[in-house]
Amino acid sequence: MKTKPKILILGGSFAGLAAAFELQHKLHDRAEITVISKERQFVFIPSLIWLVPGWRKPEQITFDLDSAFTSKGINFIQTAAQRIDPEAKKVITTNGEMEYDYLVIATGPRMAWETVPGLGPHDGYTHSACTLPHSVAAAEAWQEFLQNPGPVVVGAVQGASCFGASYEIVLNLNRALKKAGVKDKAPITFITAEPFLTHFGIDGFGVAQPMIEKFYKAVGINWLTNNVVEKVTPGEIHTKDNGVIPFKYSILIPPFQGVKAVKDSPGVGNAAGFVPVNDRYQHVDFPEIYAAGISVAVSPPAPTPIPCGVPKTAHMSEQMAAVAAHNIATDILGGEPKEVPFPETAAVCVMDAGNQGVLMITDRIFAPRKLQILIPGPWSHWLKIFLEKYLMWKLRTGRMQLP
Ligand SMILES: Cc1cc2nc3c(=O)[nH]c(=O)nc-3n(C[C@H](O)[C@H](O)[C@H](O)COP(=O)(O)OP(=O)(O)OC[C@H]3O[C@@H](n4cnc5c(N)ncnc54)[C@H](O)[C@@H]3O)c2cc1C
Repeated sequence: MKTKPKILILGGSFAGLAAAFELQHKLHDRAEITVISKERQFVFIPSLIWLVPGWRKPEQITFDLDSAFTSKGINFIQTAAQRIDPEAKKVITTNGEMEYDYLVIATGPRMAWETVPGLGPHDGYTHSACTLPHSVAAAEAWQEFLQNPGPVVVGAVQGASCFGASYEIVLNLNRALKKAGVKDKAPITFITAEPFLTHFGIDGFGVAQPMIEKFYKAVGINWLTNNVVEKVTPGEIHTKDNGVIPFKYSILIPPFQGVKAVKDSPGVGNAAGFVPVNDRYQHVDFPEIYAAGISVAVSPPAPTPIPCGVPKTAHMSEQMAAVAAHNIATDILGGEPKEVPFPETAAVCVMDAGNQGVLMITDRIFAPRKLQILIPGPWSHWLKIFLEKYLMWKLRTGRMQLP
């Protein structure tokens, strides 16, 4: 009897879950699908912005990966990939070696805190909302800060790509200060490497810039664009052209790179540890390797005065995973492969401000776009809450065929 092809997926988040469930849906028992992830928990990262001001608890935005996968006949192993050997088609993990016929890399980012001295929650002075442990620590510090408030600085440093999150964090903290009745004691400055507000690393999005500028002015958030952070010292952000900005509480988004396991695998990743893929989300040199989500290498649509990366949102990560899964399935079963160049990826996103927000929809992440919708209003906040519940249910139960 012919042995079933072994499909190994690295990562148990948006891209990993989407790839695994799509493959299971398409292949049923025609393949052996295994997911490995460093963590046993799925974390709904978009809700970390609400964990910081204390509006969510970790258990509300997480679920157990083992039961989600095993209930669908997908193997799950909690372990970390250390290296990929593409010639031998093996992944070296902390628990030993695993062979594959097809590999999907969905390992997300490594946060490159070291690019700015003093940046980040490990050896630095700024907080982070990029991971669950970071956000839990940032939430504890926020409660302390509210007892004796002072200047707040939020933003994204040079080379960052996850700009949307920095806007959501500043807007939600602004709302939290207002609710706590201490807004007058906590002036807010937003700093970003982007050439203008809502550039987002994609050269802007419709009328988002005047919209956000009007909103920042209305709520009293100062901003600095084209900003370079040279170093952070206790209570001070040292910038290249904007002097020293004092802070009592700060969250700054770092640059994202690919994870060490990819970087340590010669030929698999580029210098930053991202995986170079073609329009099928297939590795440019190893056809049995695919990648999806933040782990994929993408070039900016146009250069910026200060380096800005390209955002890869959760929704986009799922779409990339669906393309990769389709192409693995057609390789096994036969059929037409699918090609979706990254610039043509659609995006749906809500930028939340705590009690209102903006729904953003586009047919293409990079211009030229046919569809570019921005709808502001309080209902966007409620939509974001609905999406949190709906998407967590969809991902936990593997209903990837739903919108
Ligand atoms: C604060 C914040 C707010 C955001 N808000 C939104 C939003 O509103 N909407 C939106 O669409 N996107 C949002 N995003 C972006 C979104 O979170 C990412 O697009 C998404 O998480 C990318 O999914 P991924 O699967 O590629 O990577 P990740 O979610 O980063 O997952 C990577 C997975 O790989 C695992 N892993 C890593 N290394 C290894 C290894 N060596 N071995 C095994 N497993 C490994 C990890 O444990 C994890 O399971 C936000 C991001 C942040 C930081």
